[in-house]
Amino acid sequence: MIGMTVLGSTGSIGVSTLDVIAQHPEQYRAVAVTANRNVERLFEQCVAYRPDYAVMSDEMAAEQLQQKIQKAGIDVEVLAGAAGLEKVSVLPQCDQVMAAIVGAAGLLPTLAAAQAGKRVLLANKEALVMSGHLFMDAVREHGAELLPIDSEHNAIFQCMPERFNGLENSGIEQILLTGSGGPFRTVDRAELVNVTPDQACAHPNWVMGRKISVDSATMMNKGLELIEACWLFAAPPEKIQIVVHPQSIIHSMVAYIDGSILAQMGSPDMRIPIAHSMAWPQRMSSGVARLNLFDVARLDFERPDDARFPCLRLARAVAEQGGTAAAILNAANEIAVEAFLDETLGFMDISRVIEATLMDVSAQTTVSLGAVLQADAAAREVAQSHVERLKLI
Ligand code: NAD
Ligand code: MG
Repeated sequence: MIGMTVLGSTGSIGVSTLDVIAQHPEQYRAVAVTANRNVERLFEQCVAYRPDYAVMSDEMAAEQLQQKIQKAGIDVEVLAGAAGLEKVSVLPQCDQVMAAIVGAAGLLPTLAAAQAGKRVLLANKEALVMSGHLFMDAVREHGAELLPIDSEHNAIFQCMPERFNGLENSGIEQILLTGSGGPFRTVDRAELVNVTPDQACAHPNWVMGRKISVDSATMMNKGLELIEACWLFAAPPEKIQIVVHPQSIIHSMVAYIDGSILAQMGSPDMRIPIAHSMAWPQRMSSGVARLNLFDVARLDFERPDDARFPCLRLARAVAEQGGTAAAILNAANEIAVEAFLDETLGFMDISRVIEATLMDVSAQTTVSLGAVLQADAAAREVAQSHVERLKLI
């Protein structure tokens, strides 16, 4: 029996993960589930999955959950806060950790899982973007397995040779990182100024949490994914080409020196990369509807437009810069996206806040955990001041 800790189990990826676990009750068991504040949802998951532990980030919420669990008479231990998250990431009965918390809040438990030598299923790209070198070193040093859940990186992984040993040694010329272009792919710059959070969250192909949905709309998601791919595949940024592919059927490609391009295709449903990473190197069913190529009929490709989506340019510059620059970019983006979702910041001001923060906060070249957390905190404060300056009345 493989024990799974699902960090962020009430979110979009978390729910899909539990769905895959439920399809294979003979092989997989949820040993821990966690949420930020959603007591109702976590309680329902405790009843349905009977994990050993349930963690609420918020202390008050943990108390509410505790009462409900007691009343229901089920045997689940409730924990709270960062210590609780770290504890369930290193449990002896846990073999795999699904890292599906959104944003920087997922860094410490995900890192703890790597340090405990677990199989880490990484959806929480922000954790890797922030800590890059540090995270990859922890994986190597502690013999952890890192499997990408982000559909693009999972696709790249699937298109790589089994014994991947760096791009050059594997005969890889380029990574083609695809993206749908988001809900505003064809919208004019002038119109982008006035778009609302609901419009930004209405993704044409994927149903996701609100933060990543806004990231897809600004294309910062692709920028974060560029940085994520650099770390996962030891690739310099210039070896990664972003390709806009509106149908989201090809999830990314790998181009080899002999002219071959390998692609991974499938329905846009995250249960495919989740099931793939849980079962790897085997395969198992995911419950996803089969792709009908006759319904798909055509696949289109376009160049990304840096002028309408300046986040792409910012992320590429940060990928080239290295050090704590990516932690600064990530923190500023989290603050700006939150302000946009609260309707206090305009859509086109998201990239302005990030650019201004990158100018104001100087990046360190050495990346220790302390330096990453410091860069994150400093960038949040500076980004908040830029949000105030640009605030909508
Ligand atoms: P979501 O908003 O639906 O869920 C986020 C989860 O994290 C929830 O369980 C929430 O309770 C928890 N959480 C939020 N803030 C927290 C905090 N401060 N402390 C502890 N827990 C907290 O998000 P999602 O769409 O499931 O995305 C999760 C991660 O996966 C993100 O990093 C995202 O970029 C990545 N990802 C998502 C998708 C997708 O299709 N949804 C695809 C690729 C990558
Ligand atoms: Mg993705």
